[in-house]
Amino acid sequence: MNLKSFTVLVSKKAASRAVFVQFRRQRLSPPQVLSRIIYMKTIIFLILTWGALAAQAGGDVTFNAVCDNRNSLATFSFVGDVLIHKALYQRVAAETKHFSQIWRKTDVLINKADFSVANLEGPAALGIDSQGRDRGDVGFIYDDKVYSGTNFLFNYHPRILSDLKASGYDLLTMANNHALDRQSIGIDKTLWAARQVGILTVGTRMSQERNAGFHQIVSVRGIRVAFLGCTEMTNGKNDSKDQVLFCYKNPERILGTIKELSQRPDVDAVVVLPHWGVEYQHVPEAQQRNFAQKYLEAGAIAVVGSHPHVLQPWQKYVTRDGRETLVIYSLGNFVAGQGGLARKTGTVAYIGLSKEGSQKAKIFGAAYTPTYRRDAELFPIGLGDAKDVIQHTAALYGAQGRLEPSAPLLPFLCGSQRLTENQ
Ligand SMILES: [Zn+2]
Repeated sequence: MNLKSFTVLVSKKAASRAVFVQFRRQRLSPPQVLSRIIYMKTIIFLILTWGALAAQAGGDVTFNAVCDNRNSLATFSFVGDVLIHKALYQRVAAETKHFSQIWRKTDVLINKADFSVANLEGPAALGIDSQGRDRGDVGFIYDDKVYSGTNFLFNYHPRILSDLKASGYDLLTMANNHALDRQSIGIDKTLWAARQVGILTVGTRMSQERNAGFHQIVSVRGIRVAFLGCTEMTNGKNDSKDQVLFCYKNPERILGTIKELSQRPDVDAVVVLPHWGVEYQHVPEAQQRNFAQKYLEAGAIAVVGSHPHVLQPWQKYVTRDGRETLVIYSLGNFVAGQGGLARKTGTVAYIGLSKEGSQKAKIFGAAYTPTYRRDAELFPIGLGDAKDVIQHTAALYGAQGRLEPSAPLLPFLCGSQRLTENQ
């Protein structure tokens, strides 16, 4: 039981006791007492249900921190899962042999931000088959043995790393349920390839680097941000060499890391990237909400999740020490071969951070632009492109924070454009 449900239970008991005492004073008959109790319980239930729903509803978010040019200002973009299903992979192998052919039309959204983050769902382990055997460089092919894109076993040609880098991505979280799809060696090979390309990774570590952290600290326009990735699980595959950071298992490990990083003088903000939640559910489960709150209370400024294949809402959260933080429960699919509006819709989420003097960073704005896959290509979605996609994303992230694909990011995050539009 978490603190919140304990508080609810205690307040429920206290309320029932108060009602009962009151009824005894009024000398009501037993049936009258019963009907009053049922009535009161219904009222209490409705209040609690409304509170729970309100706590997880999405919609517009605003922040008190001002966008002052005298401070350091940096912008960040985030997308959800990059998951190359078989049909998409075969298409790439038959055409350009660059995965970026799928997402290149959305690069304009990524390049608006100073720093960009994605979840790479699966290893990029050169020549490693599903048994963990090294078959050498078999070339850029789709063979379902070395390189595969089925529901339970993924492995991509490492060109995906240089393609992502060339499209403007700076950091990938590798902690997800497919992290061990090519076993321990798959993680080693993937991280080695990422280093060659110069793209940062978080959430996993090499088997021979037993004391390495699961985070990276980057400096973006003078703001130093620590990114940390974790996953709920690894599809039952055993992490025998302790290479993956878990979100819920051993909570002291992740919470201790967040606390330590957030207190470091050379870190201005901590962003956690959890891979969690129930697939195809738009409402975050209790464990997500509970742990998001724990990460934020431990010192994180933002929690940006993925895994459910569909979008889940964002929500501003004010910590007990008064910090304004943001949780985005799931950014859904960015690249994936799944069907239906909810699974073909993705979102590029943006966060603006400001830093004044030696203070820690603050969020001054959040925004988003929807994306949508048609056939084997992703498209940015603006007004006039796809009403249903706009409505779908607005239901979770509100209408005010939606940024048109062609509009500049910083003025929007700073609020001036929104003010102009409203006049
Ligand atoms: Zn996943």
